[in-house]
Amino acid sequence: MKSEDLTYQIQHSELENGEHQFDFQVDDKLFLRFENEEIRNVRLKLTAKITRKSDDFLLFLDADGDFEMQCDRCLDFFSQHVDLHHEVVIKLDETTNFDTDEDFVTLDRNDNYLDIAYFIYEMTMLSLPIRRVHPEDESGESGCNPEIIKFITGESHITEEDAEVLDAAESDENWKKKLKNLYNN
Ligand SMILES: [Zn+2]
Repeated sequence: MKSEDLTYQIQHSELENGEHQFDFQVDDKLFLRFENEEIRNVRLKLTAKITRKSDDFLLFLDADGDFEMQCDRCLDFFSQHVDLHHEVVIKLDETTNFDTDEDFVTLDRNDNYLDIAYFIYEMTMLSLPIRRVHPEDESGESGCNPEIIKFITGESHITEEDAEVLDAAESDENWKKKLKNLYNN
């Protein structure tokens, strides 16, 4: 897997049998490389441990840190703390194939480098929750942008009935388009 971005490349051909550790700071650049705009302000501390046994590599990824993702309800971004782990078996073979099982890939033995960016990307994206909404504060108040909440419900304070209106807004794509236009004007 060749790429312009060499940040996450490991020269596996130089690795002796046994365990090796590499540390990285992961930021937005990695996600922009995959044209992903779902998360931003990424600050992850990543450790990659590679155990080599001749043609087999066991890759352990461990990351913790923060990023921001967009709220499905008010479209503001909110911060999320994550603690991520991922494990991949990489086998040197005739061709590179990252499209197999997500935990098992093959790498062309003539490629001397292993680019782990894709695995970091996968690990992070798989950790994202299906429902992405601002967490509530200690008193149970929505952390959403109050202006937008007022715009959706007509009130600045969320009542029981408003919760249903907000749930509907969250899953309404047309509503989101409207809201986006509002932001852009
Ligand atoms: Zn929100």
